[in-house]
Amino acid sequence: MPCTLSLWSAGSLVPARARFTTCDSNPEPHIESLGQRIDWPRHFFQPFFQRIHPTRTMNPSPTQAIVPQALITEDSRLPGAPELHYANGQLHLEGVRLLDLAQALGTPLFAYSKHSMLEALKRYQLGFEGRRARVHYAMKANSNLALLQLFARAGCGFDVVSQGELERVLAAGGLAKDVIFSGVGKTRGEIARALKEGILCFNVESTPELEVINEVALALGLVAPISIRVNPNVDPKTHPYISTGLKDNKFGVAHEETLALYLHAKMLKGLRIEGIDCHIGSQITTTEPYVDALNRVLDLVEQIESHGMPIHHLDFGGGLGIQYKDETAPDANVLWKTLWRVLDARGFGDRHVMVEPGRSLVGNAGVCLSTVQYVKPGEQKNFCIVDAAMNDLPRPAMYEAFHAIVPLSLHIPAEPAVFDVVGPVCESGDWLGRERTLSVAAGDVLAVLSAGAYCTSMSSNYNTRGRAAEVLIDEQQWHLIRDRETTADQLRLEKLLD
Ligand code: PLP
Repeated sequence: MPCTLSLWSAGSLVPARARFTTCDSNPEPHIESLGQRIDWPRHFFQPFFQRIHPTRTMNPSPTQAIVPQALITEDSRLPGAPELHYANGQLHLEGVRLLDLAQALGTPLFAYSKHSMLEALKRYQLGFEGRRARVHYAMKANSNLALLQLFARAGCGFDVVSQGELERVLAAGGLAKDVIFSGVGKTRGEIARALKEGILCFNVESTPELEVINEVALALGLVAPISIRVNPNVDPKTHPYISTGLKDNKFGVAHEETLALYLHAKMLKGLRIEGIDCHIGSQITTTEPYVDALNRVLDLVEQIESHGMPIHHLDFGGGLGIQYKDETAPDANVLWKTLWRVLDARGFGDRHVMVEPGRSLVGNAGVCLSTVQYVKPGEQKNFCIVDAAMNDLPRPAMYEAFHAIVPLSLHIPAEPAVFDVVGPVCESGDWLGRERTLSVAAGDVLAVLSAGAYCTSMSSNYNTRGRAAEVLIDEQQWHLIRDRETTADQLRLEKLLD
């Protein structure tokens, strides 16, 4: 028999009420707390364990706290707050009750808060006030046309990594002259298209790429504006898959080789040196790696300029983290106050600066709504099988990433239990959340939080599953910004043999 004892706890992400649970099959006690695992001191558990099981000894191995989605209260602060909040026991995004959306449009469904995105952008724009600086949205994070339109209208340029992304910018009403083209593997065709459209700058990632851009430009009778992406060998202290500025990453040109490549570029008639670029990784939650990288880039700028090559702009990449669990990434405005201090102190405060944020503009603005299909108890584990899967939301399967999962309605339909929340895809890696305490029954709708970035843009048709619909919420209104993909949509490009 599971035994529970209610406790009270404090802390921004810890709900007012936490629950202490032990099971006979698993004498390891744990504290359940909203959206996160916390290591609690062992002695904290001892008195409660002994009251529940006076004759048993508490398992001495370390214990972890588990998300108490079942125990979230109206006052719990969620990743995505204040736009994402409970009112009258129902989860809302801005002024829209998400259950209404799920009922109207079905699930899986991605919903984004317009206000949340514009507020996130404003944090950068505040940090740039009085400076020559601009945000170029890294659209790989979420490339829905309506979001691109929103950011273009709000004054953003774009960072693209393929011709497809460039075409999206143009289709959304963005301008090529506001586009930076990054990426390690640009093809000749992509380079030609971007040159003909007149993009702002290519961020060059290797010597052969530099030479190909030169050749393509000369063949078209054009001059390609370029920056070289320097790899500053700074550890962003994030997941290895999203570190990009270390020596063993495939990105950029080694710090020690950058000057030589600029000297080479200077000799190539199809190129015009515009700036320097750097991006060290993603989901960065501290200021130090940025300061280290900036100082290393500025050292290079001094060297390059001393060889008669003016650097007109500094592109400092993206990478700022968001809240998935209990992370506290610096506010963009605060981060940039620090970085401007470095730039001013070194005499670069009047230089044109560009940044390429993706995740920090859209990540916390989005949720994925998913309906519980089946609750499947198991010997070792219970499974909560939902209708969203790794093809919709690949981050957990790809990076073992954490997304908080909460109910749309705060009623308690069933006894809370610990579940792995999994999708219907035929892979054991198809999970959205592990060991989540939920109080769920089939038909309930859950929200996977912080799902605005690197979810739909990484989605696939695996298992011939159509991609989810997407909705942009603007106060009380919502706009369908992507139809649910049908099987006919998927089959359209395929051909049977004669
Ligand atoms: N710029 C470049 C070159 C990138 O590779 C990335 C992401 O990997 C970004 C910008 C956006 O990063 P983030 O979404 O972490 O802000």
